[in-house]
Amino acid sequence: MKGLEGKVAVVTGGASGIGYSIVEQLLEHDVKVAIGDLNEEKLKEIEQQFPEKVVGVKANVTSEDDMKNLVDTAVEKFGQLDYGFNVAGLSKPGLIMDQSFEDWKTTVDIVLHGVFLATKHEANAMKEHGGAIVNISSLNAHVPMFYGAAYASAKAGVEMFTKNAALEFAEHKIRVNAILPGLVETPITTGFFENEDLNNEFMGRIPERRAAAPAEIASPSLFLVSDDASYINGTSLVVDGGWEIT
Ligand code: NAD
Repeated sequence: MKGLEGKVAVVTGGASGIGYSIVEQLLEHDVKVAIGDLNEEKLKEIEQQFPEKVVGVKANVTSEDDMKNLVDTAVEKFGQLDYGFNVAGLSKPGLIMDQSFEDWKTTVDIVLHGVFLATKHEANAMKEHGGAIVNISSLNAHVPMFYGAAYASAKAGVEMFTKNAALEFAEHKIRVNAILPGLVETPITTGFFENEDLNNEFMGRIPERRAAAPAEIASPSLFLVSDDASYINGTSLVVDGGWEIT
């Protein structure tokens, strides 16, 4: 992929799953990385493994101070910021008729407001020299799911927010795109595979008959920030093994 070598990236949610796979692939391309996550233990571990190339920052995506500090740390430590990968997310599951307003707000806060806060500070750090941002949405932005109304609604918000950011930042040469993964094998989905009924239901819907490995979401994410994708802006790339077409 063209243009990655020597660049600097921020990755939110980079201590696990898809985010960590993005970190690993960035390091393979000689990109320096500031990881923002809540998991301090894992952050320390990754930092110790790659002391010159990674800085771990305890950061909650729902805190504007934390997102500003994460971006400032990347710039102070590595000189400037070129890429943002906004990956952190979770779902507080529940049926609409039962779900507490607190759980609804927690999900929307982390998934949608977190992407806004990260994007805002990343873009401000890039506006003089350009850059690229990838927001991890979900196939559930297009396909509803039981127990996931808050999550799916917030992920749909991330998709539209991405298009608005692309429109607004084009004059600063900052491209913004979204990835919409289908089912990915990470710590948050382990339970699905252990439950035989759920596993069969999901596999029945996915033409590939398997979940993605995190690396299969990370590599298209890197492609979207690379110079190979220089004319791709404001788009949504569905990476779902064909789930959406069934
Ligand atoms: P994961 O649980 O392995 O990783 C999520 C990371 O985000 C964790 O390290 C966690 O500590 C961090 N995090 C959670 N809340 C945070 C907060 N408030 N502030 C900072 N960090 C926080 O999950 P994953 O499966 O790798 O998911 C990554 C992203 O991909 C999420 O946005 C998720 O919604 C999305 N996604 C996942 C799947 C899937 O099947 N796994 C499918 C579609 C979309």
